[in-house]
Amino acid sequence: MIDLHLHLAGSLKPATIIEYAKERNVPLPTYNASELEHYLEAPDHCAEPSEFYELCDMTVWVLQERRAIRRAMMELVKELDAQGIMYAEIRFTPCECTLGGLRQGDAVEAAIEGLKRGVQESRRIKANLVLCITAKMDEHEAFETVVEAKKNIRNGVCGLDILLEESLYETDVFDWLFNLIKEEHIPFTVHAGQYNTDSIRKAIRYGAKRISQGIHILEDEDLLKEIIERNVVVECCPASNLKLGTIETYSRHPIRKLFDMGVPVCVCTDRLRVSGITLMQEYRNLQKYLGFTAKEIYQMNLNAANGAFLTQMEKDRLMFDLYEANKAMIDKE
Ligand SMILES: [Zn+2]
Repeated sequence: MIDLHLHLAGSLKPATIIEYAKERNVPLPTYNASELEHYLEAPDHCAEPSEFYELCDMTVWVLQERRAIRRAMMELVKELDAQGIMYAEIRFTPCECTLGGLRQGDAVEAAIEGLKRGVQESRRIKANLVLCITAKMDEHEAFETVVEAKKNIRNGVCGLDILLEESLYETDVFDWLFNLIKEEHIPFTVHAGQYNTDSIRKAIRYGAKRISQGIHILEDEDLLKEIIERNVVVECCPASNLKLGTIETYSRHPIRKLFDMGVPVCVCTDRLRVSGITLMQEYRNLQKYLGFTAKEIYQMNLNAANGAFLTQMEKDRLMFDLYEANKAMIDKE
């Protein structure tokens, strides 16, 4: 199993949040771990996207110290390993960790330390960080994140994610940023197309290797063709989309049609706690509501391996591991 789209914010363990809240006298709605777990899970069809993101932010204040970032990252990696994830690209927004005086570089350093320790103490998971740039950040902050990505690439960081919040900003804001990333040859994905497809077209033109979400791709035939031709991997997060209200029901998620039309899609969780899902549960939902077979889910994992921000040799290794893990199922068919 591969998860290419999972944010640390919104995935912290409730027990860890409670521990830090008590230490710093931060008020929480409850100090009971299982009640907090329930509280952090967004309801289906949030009235406003902000409702979903406010729940994610509830975990961000914890991440204002090196030791907390290190621990949260390590715990997430170990939790994913226990779930059977072979490879994860974890999204981390260093700019969100600067409220208490840390610099972005400090936050990235701590996150890499936590990530490496988590991998060391796990059975078999491999993981990398994808640093996020949000529309809320100013140009200096965005530039700093690019610098950190460049500095740490292939040493815990594998790429960038640009969160284009189309409902708030015009995509033109990001032209300079796309140019810079392209010049520096940093692999990147964009959160785009939850609301429209213009942003996806633009991102692909600048060389995006993957698209995060991309709910509305089906509405644009030319774009669909371009995505297939360029082999751009589309990361779908159905449970998260349902929470955010971008799809009506699970069975109406476009992933089935996208897959059938030959788009290289893969399935991801987005946020363990706020989406209230694991990758295994997501697979079960795909089988139950959208008729995906085990072989098709295996194919989506191969798509994920292909779209991972890794070297070809690392991708081949991952595909071999996937084959080994699914051999019995493949041979049976
Ligand atoms: Zn996301």
